[in-house]
Amino acid sequence: MENKISKIVSLTKRRGFIFPSSEIYGGFGSSYDFGPLGVEMKRNLKQIWWQEMINNHDNIVGLDAAILMNPKVWQASGHLTAGFADELVECKECKKRFKPEEVKDNKCPECGGKLTKPRKFNLMMKTFVGPVEDNASTAYLRAETCQGIYMNFENVLNSMRLKIPFGIAQIGKAFRNEINPKNFIFRTREFEQMEMQWFCHPKQANKWFNFWKKERINWYLSLGIPQKDLRAIEIPAKRRAHYAQRQVDIEYRFPFGWGEIEGIHNRGDWDLSNHSKHSGKDLKYFNQESKEKYFPNIIETSVGVERSLFAFLVNAYQEIKGGRTKTTKAVKEAEVVLKIHKKLAPIKVAILPLVKNKPKIVKKAKEIYKTLKPHFICLYDQVGSIGRRYRRIDETGVLLAVTVDFQTLEDKTVTLRDRDTMKQERIKIKDLVKVLKEKLES
Ligand code: ATP
Repeated sequence: MENKISKIVSLTKRRGFIFPSSEIYGGFGSSYDFGPLGVEMKRNLKQIWWQEMINNHDNIVGLDAAILMNPKVWQASGHLTAGFADELVECKECKKRFKPEEVKDNKCPECGGKLTKPRKFNLMMKTFVGPVEDNASTAYLRAETCQGIYMNFENVLNSMRLKIPFGIAQIGKAFRNEINPKNFIFRTREFEQMEMQWFCHPKQANKWFNFWKKERINWYLSLGIPQKDLRAIEIPAKRRAHYAQRQVDIEYRFPFGWGEIEGIHNRGDWDLSNHSKHSGKDLKYFNQESKEKYFPNIIETSVGVERSLFAFLVNAYQEIKGGRTKTTKAVKEAEVVLKIHKKLAPIKVAILPLVKNKPKIVKKAKEIYKTLKPHFICLYDQVGSIGRRYRRIDETGVLLAVTVDFQTLEDKTVTLRDRDTMKQERIKIKDLVKVLKEKLES
């Protein structure tokens, strides 16, 4: 099964989804860059989530807060103290750090040196703001996007004249000095989060928690993750994040085991009450009708963009033994199809002239490409045999292929091929935009 991951790593590099960062210098820790296809898929994922939160639910508004914030934010939120830390042992010789469960006989797994006792290492990424590098200029790259939401709780409440319950959604980068980044893009030091914070009355917190848990599970199912590969785990108190009164992790069955892709937390009044205490500003909510004043409870849904994208990629990856497309040479090796959900697929339509040495066919194919391009993310490909090209686009997850052939020149029709069913049908060129839209939006 681990093999599947290496195949996906290699496919995503070969086909322009994900590249190791700064590769010519040997890469950098666990940093990855998203290539032309990766960036389209990521944009689709974020857009679908945004639409789900903002358009499909009532009373949720968006926000885009700064990454750098006053360091007091992180003091108040508990992220600078022991709560947000990994317990690690350090090798006294090579200084490398490991999780206690990774070592045997108190010896460094790398150099055999002696290890220190377990100590807490904070995960916040430090930087300096301004020209002087001293304690006074220390700032932190945010470890979770939601603190920017809490900082703007009052601004949003007042400017948008909202009433509880309401939500604030945000997508953005977060940084954690993970000691053990691993499993490709599953655990990295720089990643993106899609977080929605739902502010509600404390007495309603559990009801809303259950509501959001259900909504979020359904979201993954609606995007093609099968029920058998998805589970929601109730986290016991001793394993919960330091701010959480209740926590459910939504996990996906990766080839290396179950892994969290989204956390749902009841943060109680942890954040707003601590920020009130530390800032001196009263962040309680006042209900005009009942005259009740209280700290709202916060139900948070927090998705990792790269982690969930990874789950969608793993779910899409299929190998078909013996091949499924006709080529001139018999296909002996397995054919790969990336059956990415149509809303997520980076390229929707490929335009393929049947042969490249017939100028009339090539000209027509280029014309069609130009007509379709403003409507869909398209790809034009004339290199190699048609069978080879079908295999290439299947491996890239392209949903539909428009093939221009000899018949096109006679009756102004093209062949439309479906990635998943491989069914081919003839469509009039003048109907193409309409037909493609229907297929992609149905
Ligand atoms: P883990 O236990 O795996 O470290 P977490 O419980 O600390 O994750 P949360 O703080 O709940 O994670 O963050 C919400 C989501 O952000 C996670 O479900 C995950 O999808 C994503 N995430 C967290 N840390 C990372 C990371 N280092 N790399 C990529 N994604 C991450």
